[in-house]
Amino acid sequence: MNFLEERIVKDGIVKEGNVLKVDSFLNHQMDIRLFEQMGEEFKRRFKDKKINKILTIEASGIGIACVVAKYFDAPVVFAKKSKSINIDGEMYVAEVESFTHKCKNQIIVSKKFIGPKDYVLIIDDFLANGCALQGLISIVTSAGATVEGIGIAIEKGFQLGGRMIRNLGYDLQSLAIVDGMDAKTGEIQFHPQ
Ligand code: 5GP
Repeated sequence: MNFLEERIVKDGIVKEGNVLKVDSFLNHQMDIRLFEQMGEEFKRRFKDKKINKILTIEASGIGIACVVAKYFDAPVVFAKKSKSINIDGEMYVAEVESFTHKCKNQIIVSKKFIGPKDYVLIIDDFLANGCALQGLISIVTSAGATVEGIGIAIEKGFQLGGRMIRNLGYDLQSLAIVDGMDAKTGEIQFHPQ
C-alpha cells in the first residue's frame, strides 16, 4: 500500500451509496504534509511533461492543487461553479453534473487565465463518473491549451470515469484506485499499482 492508501484505510469512512468520506484529511480538514507527499509523487509521475499551469475545480480540488503547484512551480487556476446563466463573453463555460450533490452546475474560467500557450496539469480530489474532469478538459480544449496530464488523489475504479478518460488517450494518474468498498464492514480494496 502506498502512503495515500494507508491513510484512506486508517481514516477514511465508507458510506452507503458508494461514497468514501475522507473529510478528516483530504477535503474538509486538510493534512498539508500528506498533500506535500502527493505533490512529490505527481512531480515524479509527470516529470517528463512540460507543465506551466495547474487547473482544478472548486472547492475541494483547490487545497491539493495549491500544494501540488509548488512542485511544478506553476500557478493554479480553479474553475468556479456557477448556477447563473448570466455569464459574460470573457469566460470559458462547461456543464458539469455533481456526483455528491446530484445537481448540474456550470463551471467557468476566465479567458484571461488560460490560453493556447498553456500546458495544463488537471488536479482533483476524486474521480467517480468523470463529469468534473470532462468539464475541465473541455475548458482546456476550448482555450486552445494542452492537457499534459491529469492527477487525481482517489479514483473510484468501479465507476466509469477512469476508463472513459484513459480511453480518450489522456495520461491519467490516480494515487489510490478503489476497486471496491463495503459500507457494512468498512473494508476497502485497492487496485494494485
Ligand atoms: P465525477 O464528476 O467524477 O463523477 O465526481 C467527481 C467529484 O465528485 C469530485 O470532485 C468529488 O468532489 C465528488 N466525489 C465523487 N465521489 C466521491 C466520494 O466517494 N467521496 C467524496 N468525498 N467526494 C466524491
